[in-house]
Amino acid sequence: MAIKERKVIMAKEVGFCFGVKRAINLTRQALSEREDVFILGDLVHNKRVTDELEGKGLRKEEDYDENSSGTMVIRAHGLPKAKIQMAKTIGLEVVDATCPIVLRAQEAAQMLERDGYQVVIVGDENHAEIKGILGALEQPALVVDSIEELHTAKASYKLLRKVGVIFQTTHALELCNEIVNEMLMMCKEIRIINTICRPVQNRQDDAVELASRVQLMIVVGSATSANTMELAALCRHHNPNTVHVQNAEELQYETFRDVEVVGLASGLSTPEDLVEAVRVKVLTYEPEPATAAV
Ligand code: SF4
Repeated sequence: MAIKERKVIMAKEVGFCFGVKRAINLTRQALSEREDVFILGDLVHNKRVTDELEGKGLRKEEDYDENSSGTMVIRAHGLPKAKIQMAKTIGLEVVDATCPIVLRAQEAAQMLERDGYQVVIVGDENHAEIKGILGALEQPALVVDSIEELHTAKASYKLLRKVGVIFQTTHALELCNEIVNEMLMMCKEIRIINTICRPVQNRQDDAVELASRVQLMIVVGSATSANTMELAALCRHHNPNTVHVQNAEELQYETFRDVEVVGLASGLSTPEDLVEAVRVKVLTYEPEPATAAV
């Protein structure tokens, strides 16, 4: 049986973003130079990478306490500053792999607070990055992730009249725009600092444009990666025939069997070779013909 001719159009950028690459490199370096290295949570939302680092000795911990020892790596998402300070106080060495773009979002929130604004963060309050930003502030900030949450905050007098807004770095601009537009009708003064990460935004714009001109869009990345899931949702919005897979094995033949033009994009914590394996499968895979019963 002849292999059906298919074309795969790759997004302009796939694989790790520079913040994730930097965090992985800093962790590898710490593991090569130090004895006892641990991290709170996963360094990246990708099992293959975390398995590799754990194989080199990285310990994954839920938290540290006064009996902890060794070197603690801070993930690209960052940590609340009190948590970093406490780690140093009890004698832990700290390798700070917080992404510089996340640090800039923390600084933007601090500046808004200093200038007398109620800090409003558009993002997921359970995300580590948002906890890090909240922990950089003196006062509690408001975190909203939908128009409904904004209305709830307004109805319970939690939204003030003079607000300074920042965004979770990996959030989609479309969603942030909707929330800010709604806020315009509720507040007297709004100052916005766009803290969305430029590599994220470029990937989203590029993937959306690609999704809208292919028959099938495939987004590769971990199911625990917020930016991957958000990228897939955005693509699905522009092309309902969008699938999310974590690797080539998860991609079903039926999904691409009758398709001629496929778009391929990835989350920011997806290794490039996983994306390449999906590309190769779409281009070359054909199932074995069924053998007739004798
Ligand atoms: S997505 Fe952006 S902010 Fe997050 S680690 Fe990557 S470069 Fe940094």
